[in-house]
Amino acid sequence: MSQEVRSMANPEKITKNSDGSLNVPDCPIIPFIEGDGIGPDIWRASQLVIEAAVKSQYGGTRKIDWLELPVGEKGYAQTGNYLPDEALKTIQDHIVAIKGPLTTPIGKGIRSLNVAIRQKLDLYACVRPVRYIETVPSPMKNPEKINMVVFRENTEDLYAGIEWASGTDEAEAVADFFKSKMGVALPPLSGIGVKPISPGNTKRLVASAITHALDNGFPSVTLMHKGNIMKFTEGAFATWGYEVAKERFGDQTITESQLYDQYDGNIPAGKVVIKDRIADMLFQQVLLRPDEYGVIATPNLNGDYISDALAAQVGGLGMAPGANIGDTCAVFEATHGTAPKYTGMDKVNPGSLILSGAMMLDYMGWKEAGKAVRDAIQAAIKALRVTYDLARQIDGAEEVKCSVFAEAIAQQMK
Ligand code: NAP
Repeated sequence: MSQEVRSMANPEKITKNSDGSLNVPDCPIIPFIEGDGIGPDIWRASQLVIEAAVKSQYGGTRKIDWLELPVGEKGYAQTGNYLPDEALKTIQDHIVAIKGPLTTPIGKGIRSLNVAIRQKLDLYACVRPVRYIETVPSPMKNPEKINMVVFRENTEDLYAGIEWASGTDEAEAVADFFKSKMGVALPPLSGIGVKPISPGNTKRLVASAITHALDNGFPSVTLMHKGNIMKFTEGAFATWGYEVAKERFGDQTITESQLYDQYDGNIPAGKVVIKDRIADMLFQQVLLRPDEYGVIATPNLNGDYISDALAAQVGGLGMAPGANIGDTCAVFEATHGTAPKYTGMDKVNPGSLILSGAMMLDYMGWKEAGKAVRDAIQAAIKALRVTYDLARQIDGAEEVKCSVFAEAIAQQMK
């Protein structure tokens, strides 16, 4: 039997080895969630491009066997549940999955399907690479200097959802507790939110950021925090970040002071510099001196802000890829929403989901295919036949449909 026929005959699950590395068969089964709104359009486009990349790099020896999961509006129509437990279990069983955007059902008791997926699967690292694609309009003078990856903590901080509305019994009970037990008087009728940041969750996030920097040749990991003001949460994040660097990566990391005191400012081969920056200062620095930053590790709320701001520096959310990664599984996803006004119009830019697919291929170890996707998208954009969002900003560009743009990308790999 030829290798092509053999691999296609045997779709298999990806498994994890005891050291946490992935065991990826030639024909892995990968669950996907098409998504709501523009989801079907951008998923169709992404599937076409991902398959073209795999074919271009591995001939017929590797192929993805896609498994659709009914989640979101499709899930509700088929099962009466927006996020069926079965779908979550399937993602966990298959280790790697990809998803389009999901509508947040209003008034159905669900805060956000995306947040629910991250929390239920304990996908603690939201990973957002930010890299310039030539020709894409950018507000920066030298956008090509930007090559960063944000590791945003996904499970705690003010995003944990521990909050009580102004005037409720719960808010009043918490305010009474503060007054009677802690001697702290809150302004009357305060709404109250809690900001938990823990050593365990910080350390696993920072450890994955350092691992990413080491595996991908980034020179530094910056711990972004607001510890000058919030000492026991944001400040502790930085302290625990330095601790885990020393405890788990002592031979492979140095601090900034070691860099200048012992190495004269030159990073020794194979080492990553761990530094920290106050959040507001880092927002300035990524504009003024972006080439001094590589991987950024940060608590949830800072991470939300900085990843969208950085995406704007390289041309906006329409092209920004992302992934949510935990110890047991990883879900790659478009970073924008469902853009409901464009539903079914075959109009929007599929770039975010396509580039998330490239991240997924890298994560699976199919790095040649991941690179092929990035090169092809770059070449297609340079050819100036692009979706409306880019066409309206690039002089001389022709607007094409989402599907035509995807075909042009796939064509680059033939
Ligand atoms: P959105 O869906 O991201 O859309 C906002 C605007 O961004 C669109 O009107 C469009 O701008 C632009 N845009 C988004 N995706 C684009 C693409 N692929 N190509 C080109 N332009 C794109 O944000 P929203 O309207 O605030 O949210 C709509 C729904 O999505 C909500 O239910 C929200 O909860 C959900 N959501 C889901 C996710 C997720 O699944 N990860 C993330 C965010 C929001 P123009 O109008 O300028 O053309």
